[in-house]
Amino acid sequence: MRIARFVTDTEPAYGVVSGEPGEESVTELVGDPLYQGIQQTPTSHALADVRLVAPIIPRSKVIGVGRNYRDHAREMGNEVPVSPLLFLVPNTAIAGPNEPITLPSFSDEVGYEAELAVVIGRICKDVPVERVDEVIFGYTVANDVTARDAQRSDSQWARAKGFDGSTPIGPWIETDLDPESLTITGTLNGETVQDGTTSDMVFSVADLVAYASQAFTLLPGDIILTGTPAGVGLLSAGDRFEAEIEGIGTLVNHFRS
Ligand code: MG
Repeated sequence: MRIARFVTDTEPAYGVVSGEPGEESVTELVGDPLYQGIQQTPTSHALADVRLVAPIIPRSKVIGVGRNYRDHAREMGNEVPVSPLLFLVPNTAIAGPNEPITLPSFSDEVGYEAELAVVIGRICKDVPVERVDEVIFGYTVANDVTARDAQRSDSQWARAKGFDGSTPIGPWIETDLDPESLTITGTLNGETVQDGTTSDMVFSVADLVAYASQAFTLLPGDIILTGTPAGVGLLSAGDRFEAEIEGIGTLVNHFRS
């Protein structure tokens, strides 16, 4: 099931997206599906008539994972970490599908990273690897936009990966998905620049959720980014980047100065 968040002319609402590509509709839900379950209302809209926004705003945190694809670690001149390399991103970094992203004034070197994002569905701590399925609400597509110069100059990645708009997500959350072997691509101004598969992750989704939950209590709506495949590069004002994951959809954003 595809869970989107959208606006018409009122406050954002959640909805279930269904239908064939190009002819989808979105049926409104009662309240917040993370707390109230998935209860559909009689109200439905053509997807083309609504504006999708970020499908979730994490209540507490986005947890990022660095160097989780071997070829990407190599292209950046890094070794693959022996345990997951975690970093935190504030929820003010979240942006929605089709939302324009302002390149940060402090950087001359901003790059894209197409990533699978895990959305946590329930409060949990110390989750065993074999029970991770029980705590996942679903999956969405993310772009872990990174200021490479700040990443090099700062020993912490808070600024490089946490500035406003640095984590666009969407277009919706897919709740029925096996994340183990999905094609993940990045397209810059129409040219494919990243072409990977989630089966190349160094640490699996289950490994990452279990590992993160040893350090942090995970709350409903928290997001875990899972790293990017090889092919990263830089963005300029006017660029359009599409991150696509098989079984979920395509996240599109434009960048501006
Ligand atoms: Mg990343």
